[in-house]
Amino acid sequence: MNGDRFDLVVRGLTVRYGPILAVRDVSFEVRAGEVVALLGANGAGKSTTLGAVMGLVRPVGGAIRCGPHDLRTMATEDIVRLGVGLVPERRRLFTRLTVAENLRLGARAGRDGSDLAAQLDTVFELFPVLQRRYRSPAGTLSGGEQQMLAIARALMGRPRILLLDEPSLGLAPRVVEELFGLLATLRSQGVTLLLVEQNVGAALELADRGYVLRSGEIVLSGSAGELLGSPEVVGAYLGGGGGPGPLEGMAGSTG
Ligand code: ATP
Repeated sequence: MNGDRFDLVVRGLTVRYGPILAVRDVSFEVRAGEVVALLGANGAGKSTTLGAVMGLVRPVGGAIRCGPHDLRTMATEDIVRLGVGLVPERRRLFTRLTVAENLRLGARAGRDGSDLAAQLDTVFELFPVLQRRYRSPAGTLSGGEQQMLAIARALMGRPRILLLDEPSLGLAPRVVEELFGLLATLRSQGVTLLLVEQNVGAALELADRGYVLRSGEIVLSGSAGELLGSPEVVGAYLGGGGGPGPLEGMAGSTG
């Protein structure tokens, strides 16, 4: 079946918040099986782009398609049911509900036909800690464990593509390493990932390709290797300037 290919294709995406043009004429794609990084400073438009894909913010222009489906005309719950999962920024867990309840909600929101027990086994294999903390309120988990739960909750819906909004935000370096190890496992299992990150080095180590957003526009794109070697990315993010910094000084060289 042709519809089996579930490439995400975004063309000319434009989003406004009143007078603010948050995303302008953004085009990118994530092919099935790829890991694609969406990079950029605070306020560059990364979360807005993910929100538009999920139907959470409505664009004023452009096209968003997944396989044969036109996401721009679909409600968020239908987009999730289609197989597009989101791990939102700052996780958005139900902190008073248990780990088990959070996972069940993820399963209910996602694609149906999945056997809950089998799906739980799959996520417990990836996240043994969640099995140990199954009956604990999500709010009692550590920051790293909560991030794992947020990813696990999205995986419970058996997404065909998973969108992650800054999963490493606020986590200790050791936990970040663990998180990226886990994303590498998902990648090796063939899960398609669109990864928004400020941890540019780690994101590009994992990704096949990447795009850099600045002030709502894509200013650079290429393979992860090309971006890691690009003077703009090195200068703004990976240079000796004491860690990640905004891409404000970047030359506007569109890929
Ligand atoms: P961050 O990492 O800080 O979330 P981002 O790259 O995800 O940054 P967005 O959150 O998409 O950027 O924001 C893009 C622009 O849109 C910014 O100028 C931001 O201030 C503005 N913006 C975002 N959400 C809203 C909103 N609900 N109302 C008005 N303006 C908004």
